[in-house]
Amino acid sequence: MTLHPDSLAVHAGRDDLAALGVHALPLELSSTNPLPDIELGGLSYEVLATGGHPFEGGSNVYARLWNPTVARFEEALARLEHAEESVAFSSGMAAMTAVLLALTHESQRRHVVAVRPLYGGTDHLLASGLLGVETTFCAPDAVASAVRDDTALVVLETPANPTLELVDIRAVVAAAGDVPVLVDNTFATPVLQHPLDLGAALSLHSATKYLGGHGDVVGGVVACDARLAAALRRTRAITGAIMHPLAAYLLHRGLATLPVRMRAQQEGARIVADWLTARPEVARVHFPGFAASDPDGLVGTQQSGPGAMIAIELTGGFAAASLLTSSVELFTHAVSLGSVDSLIQHPAALTHRPVASEAKPSDALVRLSIGLEDPADLIADLAQALTATADARENAETALA
Ligand SMILES: *Cc1c(COP(=O)(O)O)cnc(C)c1O
Repeated sequence: MTLHPDSLAVHAGRDDLAALGVHALPLELSSTNPLPDIELGGLSYEVLATGGHPFEGGSNVYARLWNPTVARFEEALARLEHAEESVAFSSGMAAMTAVLLALTHESQRRHVVAVRPLYGGTDHLLASGLLGVETTFCAPDAVASAVRDDTALVVLETPANPTLELVDIRAVVAAAGDVPVLVDNTFATPVLQHPLDLGAALSLHSATKYLGGHGDVVGGVVACDARLAAALRRTRAITGAIMHPLAAYLLHRGLATLPVRMRAQQEGARIVADWLTARPEVARVHFPGFAASDPDGLVGTQQSGPGAMIAIELTGGFAAASLLTSSVELFTHAVSLGSVDSLIQHPAALTHRPVASEAKPSDALVRLSIGLEDPADLIADLAQALTATADARENAETALA
């Protein structure tokens, strides 16, 4: 039976539970697994280490190769992403690393085109050359001219971190020609956006963020077709970056509430964003729900809603940003996002610290991740913190005078 997305979020990856005689997800922690005999043990190893699935009568061999709890989460996430398969990693950056290793190795091409802005860690990984990859960073409309004969992959993020710029996935896919496109879908989640339906080859998540949603899991996952998934599992088996089963268990458990969380957080974000636009301390509010932040009209077409992230530029610049982040009481001043509780952080100093100066976000920019609190309480907290920045500025001015 074809399920609507909300039902799928609750039921995906659980089809066999009744037959197992259980109702909740099993958590399997074995690091090693008994082998039927040397021949079948060896064959199982061979199949799993080269990216295949376990076979009837074989063994899962070793937890770096295959874990049933991880595989269950992968199956659920693949269904939510409209993908054939997904592959889970120990973090979002481990997932990105595996994609770069697998695709450059497979194609014997060493060049990547990356559309800025990107999450600072991704930007850093690509710019560092650590993996032997040469990267051309460009704007969305320059992808066609940046692609070369030796381009293995095009990377984009939408909404992009930290300014929430929206990138037209279909347009970049068209510009990339036959080069596969990876979309970092961390901010939108499969509740709002399905990159594979728009022509992307890979949809990547830092599962640490909305998928986890409770600030207690670090993980990454890539949704793609079966052929790419096998290449990613092979890379994962060799380099050892598989997700821990407890993380997979928590992530799978959290998928059931992902659509409800996402919609409620998005509603809260809309209210907070509207309120922020009227504040004199705020020069600019970046929120995909505002026409000014969505010039190409992608909310409602490419992604079904604006999401729950807001970025603001403060009139008082860095000094005001510093006062705001240290004056909030209900928001937590911390990196990361997508949790049930609200977070605030300064991208230029933290998440985007390693980014080259020409691409670094403004010093006046602060990023807000809106949680599930009552928006009235979040607004009250921001009101007192913004007032504190104004008072402190006036005090500083008086002291100088
Ligand atoms: C956090 C983040 C990552 C990196 O994920 P980790 O789980 O921290 O390794 C990648 N992309 C985006 C958009 C992120 O926000």
